[in-house]
Amino acid sequence: MSIFNHEFDAETTPLYFSLALTRSYNIYIVYFLLFIVCITCFGYPVNALPVAGWLATCLLARHYMNRIFIRWNFLFYVIISAGWISYFIYYYGWNVGGSNFILPLMLISMFSLYDTTFNKIAFAVFLFILRMALFFHCQNYPPIYVLTEAHMLIVQVLNTILSFVITGVICLTFSSNLQKAEKHLMLYNIELRQQAGTDPLTTLYNRRRMEEVLENHIKANPYENFSIAIGDIDFFKKINDTYGHNCGDQVLKSLAELFKEKTLGSGHVCRWGGEEFLFFFPGMNLDNATTIMNEINIAVSKCIITYKDITVHVTMTFGVEENDYQSNISELIKHADDKLYYGKTHGRDTVIS
Ligand code: GH3
Ligand code: MG
Ligand code: MG
Repeated sequence: MSIFNHEFDAETTPLYFSLALTRSYNIYIVYFLLFIVCITCFGYPVNALPVAGWLATCLLARHYMNRIFIRWNFLFYVIISAGWISYFIYYYGWNVGGSNFILPLMLISMFSLYDTTFNKIAFAVFLFILRMALFFHCQNYPPIYVLTEAHMLIVQVLNTILSFVITGVICLTFSSNLQKAEKHLMLYNIELRQQAGTDPLTTLYNRRRMEEVLENHIKANPYENFSIAIGDIDFFKKINDTYGHNCGDQVLKSLAELFKEKTLGSGHVCRWGGEEFLFFFPGMNLDNATTIMNEINIAVSKCIITYKDITVHVTMTFGVEENDYQSNISELIKHADDKLYYGKTHGRDTVIS
């Protein structure tokens, strides 16, 4: 299946943002339930009532998540999370691990697509101020609910574990999203590059790609000999005029297949223009390239091309040129083209080298 059939745009990322929010809510729900159980077991069932309120708010926010705009979701999440942190530290004091929940809150805000860097920094500053305010509050005022050492230890462990789980889940959600997005982009780039260098009708390299191949090869092997050949179908216009453009296309496609087969392992071929093809034989001298081009020329003239119930025969004229270590690529192609022109004016269906 082509990569183009997959959706890939900015719309996919907020899905992961809401996924991170949903997962955080789920963990908060488990956390509030565990907290209620702990506090009740400690013998303070009344203290569990406000926590049940937080649990209900969390369930509501989770329930309505997909029905409201993601920015509101995030705002509710901030209210619930920062509100809980403040409530918890205010009532239970600084030493029971409530401040641990600030980190996942900051983390999730950093991945919000809709916010600018300024907003993100402002939010981090807000969390820092909140943390400091709660810390100094606890320096001056004792907690309202004083837990025993053992109970404090249990709640501390609960808070630490759950806040770590939330942080881990948020990181995992976003990192797997990033990995997926990067893989997607890589495949997308490969396919784009391939399409940009391919002639859609014949699936041969196009002119641009062939120029790239030639340049790269010569740059990497400046002292290596090579040959090029340019070929043009004889009286191709007549085929179009007689049998129609579609038949002409079929001729181009069939010849392209023939060229692919004949140059396999020895060279490259591209559709240079309308009904012209350029061949590149790295490491090959003029004699060897001419031998191959003669074989190709014979194969073309023997090739029976069928389109619907029409059978077409074509011939081609080729000009072959060897690297002279003086001319650049355009000049070499021009030399080959001059030979092709010579062939066209001297009977066609020939290879000039
Ligand atoms: P010559 O032997 O001198 O090369 O004669 P010719 O008729 O082949 O030369 P000319 O340059 O006059 O004609 C080339 C034709 O190729 C004209 C154009 O319509 C046709 N052509 C170019 N690209 C395509 C294509 O993609 N499909 C089809 N069917 N025809 C094409
Ligand atoms: Mg032509
Ligand atoms: Mg022609």
